[in-house]
Amino acid sequence: MSSNVNRQFRLKSRPVGKIKTSDFDLVEEPVPTPGPGEAVIRNLYLSLDPTNRIWMSDMDQYMPPVEIGAVMRGGGIGKVVASNSDAYKVGDTVSGLLGWQDYYVAGPNDEIPVGVLPPELPVGLPTMLGACGLTGLTAYFGLLELGQPKAGDTVVVSAAAGAVGSVVGQIAKLNGCRAVGIAGGPDKCKWIVEELGFDAAVDYKAPDWREQLEAVTPDGIDVNFENVGGEIMEAVMARMNLFSRMPLCGMISGYNTDEPMRGDFSPILMRRINVRGFIVTDFLEKYAEATMELATWVATGKIKSQETIVEGLENAPTAVNKLFEGENLGKLVVKIADE
Ligand code: NDP
Repeated sequence: MSSNVNRQFRLKSRPVGKIKTSDFDLVEEPVPTPGPGEAVIRNLYLSLDPTNRIWMSDMDQYMPPVEIGAVMRGGGIGKVVASNSDAYKVGDTVSGLLGWQDYYVAGPNDEIPVGVLPPELPVGLPTMLGACGLTGLTAYFGLLELGQPKAGDTVVVSAAAGAVGSVVGQIAKLNGCRAVGIAGGPDKCKWIVEELGFDAAVDYKAPDWREQLEAVTPDGIDVNFENVGGEIMEAVMARMNLFSRMPLCGMISGYNTDEPMRGDFSPILMRRINVRGFIVTDFLEKYAEATMELATWVATGKIKSQETIVEGLENAPTAVNKLFEGENLGKLVVKIADE
């Protein structure tokens, strides 16, 4: 569980196109000791997210970009191994922005405080980064608060076999909706229908994907949970119904380019679509309640959680590209150390 050094990925240069290992310096620091009011956390799991690519860039974004030379920002779960803080005791399992490193020092100056997880978790730690973590919460709030799904509605979600999308479709089903997922390749499409219970899937890598979309949305689309942007978003919007809703969660197809992320606005006017961009942290006050509900759904089998786990912190810079190449199923996590 312990390691003699604290390996840290420090951002060396802002990526151009795909993220490269050479965009980081891998440095080794001594394992930190806690100062007054601080606690040292042994990082166990690192969450890899499409937004990591945004944070590495200096594009217009919702948090400050990671500064050159700083430890790469990243969500994670870890265990408190030393503490001079009343907020954390040794052995606590915690979750927060622990960074791409072996150890994190939590303290009163944290901009976003590291949270202590309950001692008896009904699900495994990787799931606490996925279906019961921020990506699950993103699906939950984006769909239920902004998508306002009603029984019988057709809900379409893109990146449907990923961390957010896989949960969106399953929550849509719990609400009596018709869930249609858009994903890359026949295996992912089969998985979301046969394993997760989506009503239909569209393989956007197939030449006839537009015809597939039309065939599986005969009554149009009432909610588009948008994760991808670009031509997929435009094709979905062209099929949206009058007064339909579109939670705009992400536009991953544009993150690796320097081009502005564009879209056709005309359906918003003609069909009076309610488009609403959001960041999961907008719903911070409601996290505890929603996490409980997600954990209950997962623990009782109402929602299936799935993680793709890559071993070794050293592999984070290459593993993160799986998100852009579609090589993950469900939540992408790096295992840093044994629990
Ligand atoms: P996923 O687990 O869904 O992984 C990303 C998936 O996106 C890949 O598996 C791939 O699946 C698909 N993808 C990648 N590139 C493209 C492309 N060019 N066109 C179409 N599909 C592509 O990641 P997350 O669930 O973590 O994130 C999904 C989206 O939600 C992202 O846009 C992310 O930024 C956003 N997000 C937003 C949050 C918020 O607070 N607003 C919070 C968390 C995530 P495939 O094989 O199907 O191509």
